[in-house]
Amino acid sequence: MKTKTVLIVEDNNLNRKLYESLIAQVTPCVSAKNGIQALSYCLESKFDLILMDIQLPQIDGITTMRRIRKETPQNCPIIAISAFAKPQDRAKFINIGFDEFLLKPIKPKDFLLFIENFLHEQCGNSSDQNPTNQADLILDRDTFSQLSKFNNTQAVKAVYDDFVLEMDTLTKLIHQLLQEGNLEEIAKNLHTIKGNSGTLGANTIYKISSEAEQFALDHNWPQLEEAIQMLNCEKKIFEEYIKDEKTFEP
Ligand code: MN
Repeated sequence: MKTKTVLIVEDNNLNRKLYESLIAQVTPCVSAKNGIQALSYCLESKFDLILMDIQLPQIDGITTMRRIRKETPQNCPIIAISAFAKPQDRAKFINIGFDEFLLKPIKPKDFLLFIENFLHEQCGNSSDQNPTNQADLILDRDTFSQLSKFNNTQAVKAVYDDFVLEMDTLTKLIHQLLQEGNLEEIAKNLHTIKGNSGTLGANTIYKISSEAEQFALDHNWPQLEEAIQMLNCEKKIFEEYIKDEKTFEP
C-alpha cells in the first residue's frame, strides 16, 4: 500500500503533539504551527490529508484552507478541527469548503478511526468496543487507555507530564493576571487549560477551568477567584495522581 502523509496544522503545542503521536501510529505526518507554514509545506510536498485547526495566529484555518486550494497543487481532503463549534456546525464547515469537521477535545480512538477512514486504511487492533465509559473524576480512564493503546507508557506519561508543566506555567500566569485585573487574558489562559484537560481526560480540571472561564467572561470576580483556588488544588491532586507509578501501569 502506498504510504500516505498527513499534514497537521495546529498552533497549540499539546494538541499538536497529541495528534502527531496518534497519527504516527498509522501513517507518517508533518506538522505546521500556523497557516503560513502550512502553505509553504503545501507548495513543497504532496499530502493525502490535512487536519486544519480553525483558530490560528496570523491567518485563520478557513483562510488557510481556501489559500491551500487556490494557491497550491494539493487536492486532498481538508478536515476542520475546532473547539469553538457545536456538532451541528458540521454543515457550516462543509459549506465553506472543508471535507469534514472534528470537534475538540478529540477522543483518541474515534480520532484515529476517522483518520483511517479518510486514508482508506484498515485498522487492525481497534476491535475493543466498550460503549459504557465510566469517566473517572481525576483522569478519564477511557481517554487514558485509548492513548495507551497506540503509544508506549513512557510516551503517554510524557504527554501528561507536559500537561502538568504547562498547567504550572499557566496557573502562575493567571495568578499574576488576577493581580493586574486582566480578565480577558485570564479567560484566554483558562480556555487553553480547558482545551488541554478536555483532550487528556483530566475531568475535574476540565470542569473547573470551564466554569472559571465563564466567570472571567461574566466579570464575576468572587466566583472566579474561588474557582482559580480550586484549580490550583486540583492541579496538585492531578500532579500527585500521575506521579503514582500505578497510574501508568497497563
Ligand atoms: Mn488554535
